[in-house]
Amino acid sequence: MARIVMKFGGTSVADIDRIKAVAARVKKEHDSGNQVAVVVSAMAGVTNQLVDYVTKVSRLYDAREYDVVVATGEQVTSGLLALALQELGVNARSWLGWQIPIATDSQHGKARITEIASGELIARLDRGEVLVVPGFQGLAPDNRVTTLGRGGSDTSAVAVAAALKADRCDIYTDVDGVYTTDPRIVTKARKLDKISYEEMLELASVGAKVLQTRSVEMAMRHRVRVQVLSSFMDQPGTLVVDEDEIVEQELVSGIAYSKDEAKITLVKVADRPGVSASIFGPLADASVNVDMIVQSVSADGKATDVSFTVSKGDLDRAVAIVEKKRQDLGFAQILSDSNVAKVSVIGLGMRSHAGIAARMFQALAERSINILAISTSEIKISVLIGEEYTELALRALHTAYNLDKDD
Ligand code: ADP
Ligand code: ASP
Ligand code: MG
Repeated sequence: MARIVMKFGGTSVADIDRIKAVAARVKKEHDSGNQVAVVVSAMAGVTNQLVDYVTKVSRLYDAREYDVVVATGEQVTSGLLALALQELGVNARSWLGWQIPIATDSQHGKARITEIASGELIARLDRGEVLVVPGFQGLAPDNRVTTLGRGGSDTSAVAVAAALKADRCDIYTDVDGVYTTDPRIVTKARKLDKISYEEMLELASVGAKVLQTRSVEMAMRHRVRVQVLSSFMDQPGTLVVDEDEIVEQELVSGIAYSKDEAKITLVKVADRPGVSASIFGPLADASVNVDMIVQSVSADGKATDVSFTVSKGDLDRAVAIVEKKRQDLGFAQILSDSNVAKVSVIGLGMRSHAGIAARMFQALAERSINILAISTSEIKISVLIGEEYTELALRALHTAYNLDKDD
């Protein structure tokens, strides 16, 4: 007997027929003698609709009320799935975030889970009950409802698996595993049997939305065995595992993209100590996340250009914050461009092999794609390019690193 957490994303619970199909799959797992906790997302499209309602009522909304609204999508699917399971004769009930409780901090809209009370849940599993938990939602210290950020049901599932000491956390989605890049864009993408926590973490953090970044962080910390698989097919998916479980390590294991990028350039900023601190300090104070930074050398020793990227949603705020510093920084002009995308190549092989970045630049040059900024980490290289070149760049890089599947 094993204890298993099964998580179903939005497309897997998109309508009543799919919810019934999910119930049948859960029953099968339960009938085979396993203890089962299910974590569900909202029906596909519902969270977007709820966010839309909020912004139509209040543009600069109170995040605590935003959470009250957007957390409801998952409440609906958890109740419906519990009912569908009962119809199949399975002893199931829903457990809302506040009923467990799933305790979080008070950062509404992007809260972090701090603790999950597991005693009662484990007792119920031991009695053969199936638990149905809505993903994405939690409870702040002051008892207000929180949500975990978009894609947060993955994190709920891994956190529940860690709290229940589950043997496995199966993430059911609309693709049958983690691929070398987004299979919806690159048809030659290859499915990976295994991927290391480190590589999955980097891929998620640069835009591969198949798993939320925090869910991978949590899986890595608590050593939860995560499997990504399709809810529409009956076949094994991709296991996220320790690095040493991967026998044949590729140089590059994946490529990801993010269109949620915007570039700001300050033209002719004074070239003196303290300038970067005066630009990036106030942005950090306002919780604006700055990603890539490029500073050119100043030809005359007096002024230099500084470019940096933020998420599209933060662009207006970031420009306003920096504009306030114009006197202080003495820049000539502020330019912004939201027509950009970031493409990143990830691989543990980069630690020990040279020339991986050069191959990336060469492949982009051959397609006449201009690079606007570059950043690197131990196992990642990212470039900023014009948004319209995203798909072309992904395909070119996928071929350049020999990742294309054989036809
Ligand atoms: P869910 O609603 O089940 O949480 P998501 O839409 O959040 O599903 O994540 C699944 C999607 O992630 C896929 O449909 C695919 O387009 C996208 N994706 C991006 N990069 C990858 C990748 N490397 N491997 C698999 N899927 C990826
Ligand atoms: N429903 C939420 C979202 O769409 C959480 C999730 O599905 O993971 O972001
Ligand atoms: Mg998701």
